[in-house]
Amino acid sequence: MSVARRLAGNNRTEYMLDESDTFEARKALSTESSAAASVILNSLKGFQKTFVWPLDDEVNAIGKQVYDLRKQGKEPSGSPKVNTLLARQTGAPPHKMIMAVVPKLLTLVKSCHRLANPSQGLTEDINDLRGVVERFAALEVVKDKSLAIVPSGKVKSFEELVQVADVIADLLGTRFDWEAHQFTSFEEMGKKTEYTDPKRDEPDLWGRGFQARNILGQIDKVDKKLPGIRAYYNFCSEFVHPNFGDLISTTCDKTLVPTMFNKVAVATTYCENSLNEDSGWSQYTKSRFLLAEAYRFGTKVIEQVPPQVAFYKDVLGSAIRVNRRNAHKKIRNSKDQFSKNDFCPCGSGKRISICLKTN
Ligand SMILES: [Zn+2]
Repeated sequence: MSVARRLAGNNRTEYMLDESDTFEARKALSTESSAAASVILNSLKGFQKTFVWPLDDEVNAIGKQVYDLRKQGKEPSGSPKVNTLLARQTGAPPHKMIMAVVPKLLTLVKSCHRLANPSQGLTEDINDLRGVVERFAALEVVKDKSLAIVPSGKVKSFEELVQVADVIADLLGTRFDWEAHQFTSFEEMGKKTEYTDPKRDEPDLWGRGFQARNILGQIDKVDKKLPGIRAYYNFCSEFVHPNFGDLISTTCDKTLVPTMFNKVAVATTYCENSLNEDSGWSQYTKSRFLLAEAYRFGTKVIEQVPPQVAFYKDVLGSAIRVNRRNAHKKIRNSKDQFSKNDFCPCGSGKRISICLKTN
């Protein structure tokens, strides 16, 4: 079948009718995605500017001393600088939680913003939806584990804070040795890029000490609550891998993304010749039903995002409040051991003298 006949052919109308389901499902996904992005951004207000501690060389050097002493089983104390640093470490649980949760939510916002655009392209849609499923599943598993510690979803005591922060910090897990390779070219890296000892005792800012989670395991856990999510993930993964999915995505893009029609018509029509009903392949038609279904289920996952975000908003907010109370109590009980000019260990970013007056 020639390109010209294909474009003017009888099947054209029929194809357009078949796609109304897919168009409707894609529209619903746009609406849901843009709503979810707003909910996340509103919930994040206030968290991004918290816990900014200027780290100078002196503080870093003290930090190293404190770390070495602790390794030897000794508890450091003494100068106001050391006390401030120790208090900052006490203030670390909410800091850790924010580092674990906020970047995941911001990544979800980016995906949702892209998905709100109905004509970014099929491969791009599925790639984003796959990323949404991964982040949603990781956050959902950690949410359930956290609720076992704080059933109300709110942190009430410092003890609860320490426990829940450890659970949430698991979201930071990694296998890649970021520290060792930060200045290495990929040619030099070779094939071994993982930590030799991923379970080191002391979690650090390179993600070491946090165990990397198996995403399939997390998705399987969520599948018990949201049946179909594992099958959906399998579909999305196969779709964006250099497998059969490329054929479906480049073929269907032509009609799903009208603006791209001229650009890709020749290439996709070439593929369609092997996939249309005349040739005995029914895959093409079937894949369209699957796409409508893919958008429908993707929308269903994104619908679950706002309640999840509400949990993280509560748990982070209450963690910050409990931590602030704890840090200020510590300073008030031993005022002269802290330099009033230091940054407050509660993480407000204010000097101690000012922070105590305003809180
Ligand atoms: Zn403070």
